[in-house]
Amino acid sequence: MKKIDLTCVVCPFGCLMQIELDDNDKIISVTGNTCKRGETYAENEITDPRRNICSTVRIEGSKVHNVVPVKTSSEIPKDKIFECMKEINKVVAKVPVKIGDVLISNVLGTKVDIVATNNVLD
Ligand code: SF4
Repeated sequence: MKKIDLTCVVCPFGCLMQIELDDNDKIISVTGNTCKRGETYAENEITDPRRNICSTVRIEGSKVHNVVPVKTSSEIPKDKIFECMKEINKVVAKVPVKIGDVLISNVLGTKVDIVATNNVLD
């Protein structure tokens, strides 16, 4: 049996949870959470941890900006973050770019897009 301490980041309370796992890494118990959302967060962290990514993409044709800020349209698997950053670094966008423009579609087959979070119009 393994024990893991995990801070819930779903809300600002930041409950410190203790997770007990069996020898096959299946959850036996979750304690320390104040609400059900903490338990769901713990289950997701153990079985399929995911994160949003924020970064920048290089941009050509702007007199003012060298990059445009971007983010994932939803969370991607945590173990794909490094590879995803490499994909983002390969892209060079051209002006104009508008908020919400998809700069990479279905990055790494995750069904998640990389979208612009700011306008770079000239
Ligand atoms: S367990 Fe509930 S109350 Fe505690 S940090 Fe998570 S969401 Fe907030």
